[in-house]
Amino acid sequence: ALPKIAWIGLGIMGSPMSENLIKAGYDVTGFTLEREKLDRLAAAGGTAAGSIAEAVRDADVVITMVPASPQVEAIAYGPDGILENAGSGALLIDMSSITPQTSIDLAKAAKDKGIRVLDAPVSGGEAGAIEAVLSIMVGGGQADFDQAKPIFEALGKTVVLCGPHGSGQTVKAANQLIVAVNIQACAEAVVFLEKSGVDLKAALDVLNGGLAGSTVLTRKKDNFLGRDFKPGFRIDLHHKDMGIVTDAARNVGAALPVGAVVAQLVASLRAQGDGGLDHSALLRAVERLSGA
Ligand code: NAD
Repeated sequence: ALPKIAWIGLGIMGSPMSENLIKAGYDVTGFTLEREKLDRLAAAGGTAAGSIAEAVRDADVVITMVPASPQVEAIAYGPDGILENAGSGALLIDMSSITPQTSIDLAKAAKDKGIRVLDAPVSGGEAGAIEAVLSIMVGGGQADFDQAKPIFEALGKTVVLCGPHGSGQTVKAANQLIVAVNIQACAEAVVFLEKSGVDLKAALDVLNGGLAGSTVLTRKKDNFLGRDFKPGFRIDLHHKDMGIVTDAARNVGAALPVGAVVAQLVASLRAQGDGGLDHSALLRAVERLSGA
């Protein structure tokens, strides 16, 4: 029989991902803070739980998809948390994007309870979650990875074990650096092209066919063209991720000169009240600098 799944955190990513597991035949019990997301899970064929303890009690595999390290710690530790209430022998897969050190500490704490842990953050955005084509970057043990592989394959397309605990998060941090810098470059090109009076749609189409083309340009083109900044991936979350990659890079002595500047621009958007917008709103920061 397929393992029984508990899913904690049914947001922009967690809702469609958990629904893909239901479609693949898994029995999924979920818990999250918003009532309407629990109703959505039940409507999709899952079971809504009233608490984390209730959700994880009989689960073989517990999957978490919450915003950041403090939320992972809040749902994992404490009397009502996953470690106290999941059965010994359960596998905990944290798919949130958090600091590598939080993942390492969680794996150590869980081991004392007989619970195995994988860090398995994802890339591909809401569309990748809906279409089950995410890239999944995993840290942890080979045997646990092998056990989780069928679950990952129901959620994504590119699934790679990157190394020991925390490695998945380190790779995800690099992913977020590349994405932010790429969006920033596209945003600068958009403002430059518009101020130059070139047809923007035509320009982006031809750029995307050459070396300047990217998944970012493909996925965010309509956001740029329509100034549509509905998330997607919120600036608040990318701010969190730029903090993670900046700290982790400083710890190992890697320089991120361009990443540091883009991190400042992300922070400035947030400070101006745009934290709830999609990260393609970096275009707004460039427009403000350009007086547009
Ligand atoms: P979201 O804010 O839409 O969803 C987070 C969910 O976590 C919410 O449903 C909330 O109820 C739940 N939650 C928070 N605290 C909780 C608690 N104490 N108990 C139970 N549930 C709790 O966020 P999202 O966009 O789905 O992102 C989730 C994670 O995935 C983040 O780490 C993010 O960086 C990462 N991520 C997001 C995207 C994206 O495009 N949105 C892409 C890749 C990775």
